[in-house]
Amino acid sequence: MTDPNATDDVEGSNRSRPTTRRSLLTSGAAVAVSTGIGTVGTVSARADDPCPSSPTEDPSEEAPTTPDEDNQDPPRRESLTLQSNTAYETEVFITDAARPGPTAMVVGGMDGNEQAGIEAASRISKWKPERGTLVVLPEADAVAVDQRTYNSPRGNLNRQFPANRTPTTPLARELWNLITEIDPTVVIDFHSSKGIWGSDLGPDGYGQAIYPSAVGNSRRIAADTAEFMNDEYVDGAYPSAYRVTVGNTLRGNKPKLMHKVAGDLERPGYLTEVTRYDTSLATRIEWTTAMGARLLRAHGIR
Ligand SMILES: [Zn+2]
Repeated sequence: MTDPNATDDVEGSNRSRPTTRRSLLTSGAAVAVSTGIGTVGTVSARADDPCPSSPTEDPSEEAPTTPDEDNQDPPRRESLTLQSNTAYETEVFITDAARPGPTAMVVGGMDGNEQAGIEAASRISKWKPERGTLVVLPEADAVAVDQRTYNSPRGNLNRQFPANRTPTTPLARELWNLITEIDPTVVIDFHSSKGIWGSDLGPDGYGQAIYPSAVGNSRRIAADTAEFMNDEYVDGAYPSAYRVTVGNTLRGNKPKLMHKVAGDLERPGYLTEVTRYDTSLATRIEWTTAMGARLLRAHGIR
């Protein structure tokens, strides 16, 4: 469960962002990079994507492979480790498609008892995008995940990212260094909540909502994703209280990861919440994965 921002919902300014493909793989990352773990196949792009985000692509950033659009080189997959040789040690999976595109960061396990986001991120870490770079951290707070607790002994990881200041723990600092290093076009953070945002059904909570950062078209993309979720997963199968809505806009005034993405990085980002109220873990994983996929596609990762 998270505690997204209060009541403002004004969209931020539009910004264009450069493509940063392979920036992590080619730069001297501040984190230890392990050996590659093999190559994987490709998936097909679909033609019906609204693609509301069109980042520029700088040909000079192309890898020294063929620029042919028909190139079918498999994506490269690597991993790196945060907090090596500590109890908080956790893996980040990086899949770099053959075709250039935006870089997306996907995070699960900020709160260790929110299994759906951990599993959804783990599944997404195995995806084989045809375009772009996918950086996935399934178990952000590995100690809390191991204990299946909201907090770890260092407290709640999602209270350690004050805007305009250095994150307050070693794990938070290393995660933030990674994010600034990969320079993502979009950041997605998966959560689940005991309740439903804005509903009298069940306990109070933040579920069934997407909370966008105050940057670019994030709020419109969140609304499109909510509509998609309702059409495909909720309407006709669950009470109307379960309809996915757009939550408050996150803009950097709380010490949470997505607030810092909005406030410091000034990037599109989404904190997603599904509800644990009378839902199965399998359903929550399905919903979270579908929301992630839709948001990634909207930002050009496919
Ligand atoms: Zn949470």
